[in-house]
Amino acid sequence: MAPEFLRPSRSPLGNINVSFEFFPPKTAEMEASLWDSITRLAPLEPSFVSVTYGAGGSTRERTHSTVARIVRETALKPAAHLTCVAATREEVDDVVRAYKAAGVRHIVALRGDPVSGPGGAFEPHPGGYATSTALVAGIRRLGDFEVTVSAYPEKHPESATLDADIDVLKAKVDAGATRAVTQFFFDNAHYLRYVDRVRARGIHIPIVPGIVPVQNFKQTASFAKRTGASVPQWLADRFEGLDHDPATRRLIAAAVAAEQVLDLVDHGVSDFHFYTMNKADLVYAICHLLGLRTHLTERAA
Ligand code: FAD
Repeated sequence: MAPEFLRPSRSPLGNINVSFEFFPPKTAEMEASLWDSITRLAPLEPSFVSVTYGAGGSTRERTHSTVARIVRETALKPAAHLTCVAATREEVDDVVRAYKAAGVRHIVALRGDPVSGPGGAFEPHPGGYATSTALVAGIRRLGDFEVTVSAYPEKHPESATLDADIDVLKAKVDAGATRAVTQFFFDNAHYLRYVDRVRARGIHIPIVPGIVPVQNFKQTASFAKRTGASVPQWLADRFEGLDHDPATRRLIAAAVAAEQVLDLVDHGVSDFHFYTMNKADLVYAICHLLGLRTHLTERAA
């Protein structure tokens, strides 16, 4: 460990880039809360904000309308998630064209999970894009899009080995992917080792760590299980006994996320993608620790 004064996270941080992920709201109330979060986080000037596409393609219209509103009403650069699930190539291409017409220039291209959710067997739609690699190539054919793809530091649950998984990442890059965002992880060693292996495989796009602030430990642990992300015992221990103490849980969540991102900074990481769950406070605080400031904050001070 470097002496305290040599640790990058202890110095003023000027080179940090963040991006935020949101999901499309289902109700008017959820929409209001999403927009409160977007409004709070926007002054941090993220590189982009992304909007997910529900499992089984279930949120096509809601994803589109959220992204279109971001284009209309903010200066943020939106990225629309898109999957291959339950749609023909023509239908997917139409979605891409609609994004292009709405001024969107960045797509997060995924194979997607079956309608039943993560863990179920994926069946390509007859006449649809069969793989994320084919989708990336299809998007690039339709326009000059930035294309972000997924990456799995602990491998995707369906993948036989981490090397097989990295082969898929290489294929996606060869098809035109320009950035990867990782599945969330809690042990930074997984990410750091993964990036070493990816670079050794000749992949040079940014591999941006996906950070999930733990708003609810039980929910996060159950989601992690389905997506192949390991939950270390030390993390469970930190949230132990707090099921009925949301105030302390939030403080612990902030401490855990701060520890994770500042350790990554000390390992030279400068770009972070936050899974916001449409909630701003925790992410805002972590960005503050990362040295990001807004005019609003300066005025308030
Ligand atoms: P790919 O990169 O295509 O594949 C992942 C790995 O699975 C590959 O490396 C490969 O080894 C293995 N694999 C895939 N198919 C097979 C097979 N048939 N046999 C053996 N191995 C196989 N899901 C959504 O529905 N909507 C979203 O908006 C969304 N956003 C996401 C954002 C990020 C940053 C991440 C990391 C995931 C997201 N997901 C989303 C989840 C994703 O759709 C699932 O993890 C899905 O199971 C795989 O899609 P992919 O594009 O990540 O897979």
